[in-house]
Amino acid sequence: MTKMEKIKNYINGEFRNPISNKYVDNYNPSNGEIYGQIPNSSSEDVELAYSSAKSAFRQWSKTTFEYRSRILIKISELLEENLERFAEAESKDNGKPLSLARKIDIPRAASNFRFFGNAITQFASESHESVGEGAINYTLRQPIGVVGCISPWNLPLYLFTWKIAPAIAAGNCVIAKPSEVTPMTAYLLGEICNEAGLPKGVLNIVHGLGTTTGQAIVSHPDIKAISFTGGTATGAHIARVAAPMFKKLSLELGGKNPNIIFADCDYEDMLETSVRSSFTNQGQICLCGSRIFVEASIYERFKKDFVEKVKQLKVGHPSETSTDIGALVSKPHLEKVAEYIEIAKQENGKILCGGSDRVTVKNFEEGYYLAPTVIEVPTDECRVNQEEIFGPVVTIMPFNTEEEVLEMANKVKYGLSTTLWTSDLKRTMRMSNQLQSGIVWVNTWMMRDLRTPFGGVKASGVGREGGFEALRFFTDAKNVCIKY
Ligand code: NDP
Repeated sequence: MTKMEKIKNYINGEFRNPISNKYVDNYNPSNGEIYGQIPNSSSEDVELAYSSAKSAFRQWSKTTFEYRSRILIKISELLEENLERFAEAESKDNGKPLSLARKIDIPRAASNFRFFGNAITQFASESHESVGEGAINYTLRQPIGVVGCISPWNLPLYLFTWKIAPAIAAGNCVIAKPSEVTPMTAYLLGEICNEAGLPKGVLNIVHGLGTTTGQAIVSHPDIKAISFTGGTATGAHIARVAAPMFKKLSLELGGKNPNIIFADCDYEDMLETSVRSSFTNQGQICLCGSRIFVEASIYERFKKDFVEKVKQLKVGHPSETSTDIGALVSKPHLEKVAEYIEIAKQENGKILCGGSDRVTVKNFEEGYYLAPTVIEVPTDECRVNQEEIFGPVVTIMPFNTEEEVLEMANKVKYGLSTTLWTSDLKRTMRMSNQLQSGIVWVNTWMMRDLRTPFGGVKASGVGREGGFEALRFFTDAKNVCIKY
């Protein structure tokens, strides 16, 4: 792509300008410059995508699993072959370190296609014999039709493909919208899909603003299911729009995850992993452990060692190999995160390192950089411990008993993931049972087996992605009862 090239929608296998010919600017977070434009698509563009998806569905829904599997695996291979190009595009669009995009984002996007390409060949439905009644029931798992997939900016291609791959594997046709803030790798994906032989109209990618393009997808009466990942407030809005139309909904929303550290843990492993679970991707991962609770007997030691390690993290341009912390995704987001650091001060939080001042990176002075920030908080009740910040900011505080930390861990509106550090098996099982979260990691963080159910409870969402859960979401179950 040349500088300032306008990207296009991908509809019916073709790259098209938006009908209105209107565009929005796309910023490079590492230097604050506009480097491209993306379609500001309207409901007319969504309608065009819908017609294309609807007509593709007739054929696609009847293709064999083997045929779909071959195409999905081909997409995966092409992503791997183009890893460098995609990683560079992701890093430039999002501000994340190029090394991270190479190691995590793009390989995982490729894995998503490979995983669901294989999973669909193993997806079986149930059969129930009504013994004594002389009947057999079997369940058909049929594709839903045209479905909508809407994803956020933090792990752009990774989360986009996590929805698209199971949707098309299950025989649906898709209208997908990436975040307007990070559209680039979704745009490039269209080329790969054509090269892999994905039939026209099976996947349609419409770019634009959430409030217009996204809203047009969610409110379209014939788009039967919406898989959404994003903020809790947006999720609530989408649920309000979709519910009266009885759409199937999968909502993966915000988090405020506890990282609970007991004195009997493997200290070095915990320390190194806690730095990663706090600040990977500038803390902009819904799974980051942003509230760190440390058993009182090792609190002072942890505080000293943790802050020392965090201070060593290098904030820098995303393309530098030495960079640990790249740019935040946008100026408004940078300002939001910085404001929370100020709020922490007003609430008597003590800034142990970092702070709300923008970090200046030489030659990229207008980039959106912040130092990783650790705040010691006097109570769990404060706003920085209750509200999602979604940036390079964590809080730390001590606890005395298992009961006390369990209560604090659960006392937020969110319930996405928890990390627990202990070598006590009974405590692990006791706490895992009682923690109000969809995922519990014990002595590790963000270890992902794609077969496992993924999602949150409370304000972190409804529904589960991953493995057969995703294939169940993207199919309707129909029971057939035959009397013999
Ligand atoms: P948003 O909710 O702002 O946006 C998510 C997506 O929804 C974007 O594509 C956005 O478009 C679109 N959107 C916005 N408004 C509407 C609407 N009215 N109708 C339809 N679509 C709409 O989230 P962010 O992009 O800011 O992402 C950060 C959030 O995502 C955090 O809260 C984070 O915790 C959560 N998240 C959750 C994960 C999980 O698995 N539970 C994983 C990753 C992130 P646009 O960008 O153009 O506005």
